[in-house]
Amino acid sequence: MTTNEIAEIKSLLQEPKNIVIVPHKNPDGDAMGSTLGLLHYLNLYNHDAVVITPNNYPHFLQWLPGNDSVINFEKHASKAAHLIKKSDLIFTLDFNALHRIGQMEQHVLSANAIKILIDHHQQPDAYAKYRYSEPSICSTCQMVYHFIDMLKDTDKINRSIATCLYTGIMTDTGSFRFPSTTSETHKIIASLIDKGANNAQIHSNVYDTNSYSKLQLLGCAMNNLEIIKEYNTAYITLSQEELDTYNYKKGDTEGVVNYGLSVNGIKFAAIFIENQAEGIIKISLRSKGAIDVNTIARTHFNGGGHINAAGGRSTLSMEKTLEKFKLILPQYSNDLQS
Ligand code: 5GP
Ligand code: MN
Repeated sequence: MTTNEIAEIKSLLQEPKNIVIVPHKNPDGDAMGSTLGLLHYLNLYNHDAVVITPNNYPHFLQWLPGNDSVINFEKHASKAAHLIKKSDLIFTLDFNALHRIGQMEQHVLSANAIKILIDHHQQPDAYAKYRYSEPSICSTCQMVYHFIDMLKDTDKINRSIATCLYTGIMTDTGSFRFPSTTSETHKIIASLIDKGANNAQIHSNVYDTNSYSKLQLLGCAMNNLEIIKEYNTAYITLSQEELDTYNYKKGDTEGVVNYGLSVNGIKFAAIFIENQAEGIIKISLRSKGAIDVNTIARTHFNGGGHINAAGGRSTLSMEKTLEKFKLILPQYSNDLQS
């Protein structure tokens, strides 16, 4: 983002505005942390700001400060559509393409509002007037911190902002262990703790929320883990029947794909999760090193994401999807076998 653009945004924010803040569908910790963190920041300037999510999000995020003010488009479509229509500014956070907000896309596209994108995914689309895109940064939450910093307002970061931003940085870095975690990230995390983020409590709120059935589902996923030694690849499947057996709830499978990557020597991991209602297999891909799962997801599975973490979907059956997956591995043998 240029100094000029920052100056323009700063001047836009001088007067109270109607502002809508939007995360991607099935929002995760970074999506909710960044949108609510930005909301608390904008509230300091008496804007009429609201977070509208395309759909619901997991229970382990529903304690975040400002959670009660969030509007779920799926539940309150007409109210949300009205707010989008009359907004002056729309911030879109933690996604790079408008189709990632599902049914909300047409409303955001047709709104007259000035659009501002803040996101760390590769290759963002060009729908926003202002684009702050930085794929090297670990999380959109860290980018919101930098955004506030560019507006020369870090001294205004309060406990609510700090708590939200801490949460998303923590979840998107796998609790500060992924390569995207830099010394800058740790400096920002330290300052968020100084501003009132209760690190131990936040970790506990997010991760100590397992239900018995969720752990049983994890056990099922571990039983289904397969290794393709030749390509240093691991994959996990979960059928609709298995999800039903263990009373699957949104968020229950988050992070499960990482177990595949934790197997000694594995460089590429996938999870295939059947969703009968949508008629798809939802796919998450993770990798180590040079294996570019963003490209794999884009090329073969209608998706995208980052170099080492991406997602996509398949409309084939589970069996056919797995066949397709195994057939594409030889194309990437250079990276997988090195
Ligand atoms: P996850 O596997 O945790 O759902 O997503 C991993 C990363 O890939 C996230 O950054 C997410 O935003 C992105 N991603 C997941 N699914 C899709 C998809 O269907 N399309 C695109 N473009 N990105 C996705
Ligand atoms: Mn993110």
